[in-house]
Amino acid sequence: MTRRDEARRIVVIGASVGGAFAAAALAGHGRRITILERDELPAEPAVRRGVPQGTQPHVFLHRGLRAVEELLPGVDADLRAAGGVPLDTGRMAWLGEPGWAPQAPQYEIVSATRPLFEHVVLRHVRALPGVDVREGTTVVGLRVGERWSVDLADGTSLSADLVVDASGRSSRLPGWLAALGVPAAQVTQVDAHVGYATADIAVTPGRMAAPGIAFLQTPDRSGGLALPVEGGRWLVGAVGSGERRPGRDPEAFVDALRALPDPALADLVEGGVGHVAIHRQTANVRHGYERVRGWPDGLLAVGDALCAFNPVYGQGVTVAALEALVLRDAGPILRGDVGALMGRVARAADVPWRIATGEDLRYPAAEGTVPRATAAFSAWTRELGRLGAHGDEAAHLAIARVYHLMASPVTLLHPRLLARAAVARVRGYGPSTARPRVFASDP
Ligand SMILES: Cc1cc2nc3c(=O)[nH]c(=O)nc-3n(C[C@H](O)[C@H](O)[C@H](O)COP(=O)(O)OP(=O)(O)OC[C@H]3O[C@@H](n4cnc5c(N)ncnc54)[C@H](O)[C@@H]3O)c2cc1C
Repeated sequence: MTRRDEARRIVVIGASVGGAFAAAALAGHGRRITILERDELPAEPAVRRGVPQGTQPHVFLHRGLRAVEELLPGVDADLRAAGGVPLDTGRMAWLGEPGWAPQAPQYEIVSATRPLFEHVVLRHVRALPGVDVREGTTVVGLRVGERWSVDLADGTSLSADLVVDASGRSSRLPGWLAALGVPAAQVTQVDAHVGYATADIAVTPGRMAAPGIAFLQTPDRSGGLALPVEGGRWLVGAVGSGERRPGRDPEAFVDALRALPDPALADLVEGGVGHVAIHRQTANVRHGYERVRGWPDGLLAVGDALCAFNPVYGQGVTVAALEALVLRDAGPILRGDVGALMGRVARAADVPWRIATGEDLRYPAAEGTVPRATAAFSAWTRELGRLGAHGDEAAHLAIARVYHLMASPVTLLHPRLLARAAVARVRGYGPSTARPRVFASDP
């Protein structure tokens, strides 16, 4: 493209959620978008090599599901039609650091396996005008001249005005940029060394009273979760950090669940565990591409390739969708403007990054120091959690809004919440929230 020309020929690297959302955001306006995907994509929802985390439970935050619906209207209905389970996160059995959270309505989400979610999203993206998905096509390098050349493993190349890297956590972009002589971006990493182990369990209809279970891990203890998914099944996961990372042995998996402060998850899986899938690539990793001097024009990175999160906060898919909304709202993409757009895309990860790293830096296994403001914010959030665990629904809902990325963290400093905390400090916190009914047979 010549100066002030619009990018019309776009190549997206990776056909997982980040690439699919970016393509959805950019489609139309006479653009031709080719998504290049290394894997052959399964005809039916299935875990695939390029997205190994597909075996693990994925929570799709309310803000993310709304963003996806804005980008691809109809995904929500199709997810439900394919067996995705709608549930109110406020009705789940939540056990946090200070105790049980109160039962009060929060946000509706649709719970489904990661492969089903991706499958539905991609079906919508394939139907968009000017979008083409090329499977079994691996990108091996980038060259830039008047236009971009995207080099493929079969020795051919594709030219483009705009290249979007959505190739995930294992993106090779840093190496490709080095080969182009572009200065390296600063990489910030906070690794709490969290591991997941997950089993897929058949649950008899009517057995559960809670629509889902979440035992949050803390620096001192492991956690776990259970979510209903399509096909009458539940994904039950154990989550631990450092030496407490759970293994793939089924008996050890049940033991890990049994060691949690409540027996519900162990009782849920008892006698029903077959294969256990583990995953340990969970560090928060952020590439500061937006701050690279001499960033080549016509290049963007999105999704995990730009910023990957510790998944326990359920943010990755939502952030990829929020980044895509930035692309959608950018209007015509002109030569010379893409560096600034990279900055706006990167900012979509700011708040989720602070939430995840502020919490993770408390873990003994994580290296690094927490900025003072982040530590104070994290401590205040825990104080609100404590109010919630003593029946304060407003405090609990305030945290949920921020964690679902529906409200700014600043809202947690509302004078009413400060006053509630002050009163609790003086008069006491009151009785703890009672354990909710998890199984229908619970009293
Ligand atoms: C254990 C675990 C649990 C998680 N739970 C949640 C959750 O509850 N909620 C949530 O929102 N997020 C969760 N996440 C995060 C979520 O999985 C990621 O944020 C999301 O998948 C990022 O999407 P992406 O498209 O950027 O990258 P990926 O999903 O990693 O996809 C990258 C794609 O690029 C392709 N590719 C790679 N290299 C090339 C190449 N050279 N050429 C062509 N194609 C290439 C790959 O095959 C793949 O299809 C979890 C992650 C993990 C590890």
